[in-house]
Amino acid sequence: MQQNPYISIVVPVHNEQETLEHLYQRLTTALDKLGKPYEIILTNDGSTDRTAMILQELHKRRPHQIRVIEFNGNFGQHMAIMAGFERVRGEIIITMDADLQNPPEEIYKLVQAMEAGHDVVNTHRLGRQDTLWRRMVSRWHNKIRAWMIPKIKMQDEGCMLRAYRRNVVDLMASTGEASTFIPALALQYASNPTEVGVAHESRHAGESSYGFYQLIRYNFDLVTGFSLFPLQVFTMVGVLISGLSFLFVVYLGVRRLMVGPEVEGVFTLFAVLFFLIGIVLLGMGVMGEYIGRIYQEVRKRPRFVVRHVLETQAADQHARQVDSVS
Ligand code: UDP
Ligand code: MG
Repeated sequence: MQQNPYISIVVPVHNEQETLEHLYQRLTTALDKLGKPYEIILTNDGSTDRTAMILQELHKRRPHQIRVIEFNGNFGQHMAIMAGFERVRGEIIITMDADLQNPPEEIYKLVQAMEAGHDVVNTHRLGRQDTLWRRMVSRWHNKIRAWMIPKIKMQDEGCMLRAYRRNVVDLMASTGEASTFIPALALQYASNPTEVGVAHESRHAGESSYGFYQLIRYNFDLVTGFSLFPLQVFTMVGVLISGLSFLFVVYLGVRRLMVGPEVEGVFTLFAVLFFLIGIVLLGMGVMGEYIGRIYQEVRKRPRFVVRHVLETQAADQHARQVDSVS
């Protein structure tokens, strides 16, 4: 029975019926070995398979250590982690994926780094086991992000096995943002972050929830959430094009006076025009991404809805059923 866990593991779960039993076995074995009191918070992010039932069963096996948050729908991986963050009781909080791509046996490395005094421990995947195209997409994501948002210093944004100290987690949970990227958010509040390499495995079973489109949306969230760079690019391009157009107008004016009226080059003009219209549309799209997010935030809709929480505290022997929104 644990009243005050030292380590809290937060795991978002979406349609992972095949992996949960293995996750339970490997995670509890690895944590038991550490010999420190711990809790595991699993958020069921609107799974449509047997995940909910399995989680309920896991909670029954270790009612004091395993807590289950059941969402009312699919609110995304980061919101699932956020819901866990709002309820953690430990001092060191570790996030990881449910699909066992982040081996639980590596957790000790993060705990060691935290105990050495760091408040955020980022990770990069050693010997990454993903398809070639996924690795390529990630490489480009990381490059573009490093260029656009240099203040976010991490080698590998996609690795979710990370550790945070409680004060950083409380700050993250208090932001109330509806679209966010947790590892980047943590770095905003970290005073002494570090990074360690961790092993990586191929997905234990089931399929990745992310297709190409979701990966792009994901990166947009990261860039728009932490930087005004795309907007600034358009201001710069606008200034440059206005300057060039002005010179062009002066040139045409002079030619009109010197040579007289001309009609040649009308197709060149079309080409230039289409190019400029393209840039304007792109700029509007980028503005739209920001405005959409502003709209999302000002509507103040709950960022996720919790249907119920299965947890057993030392005092109450029965699982608590609470309805809450956040
Ligand atoms: N996940 C989630 N909600 C979603 C999508 C994914 O909670 O809408 C969880 C999923 O169960 C896993 C983690 O987030 O624990 C990472 O997802 P996945 O393995 O599909 O992503 P990948 O490893 O391919 O980036
Ligand atoms: Mg995965």
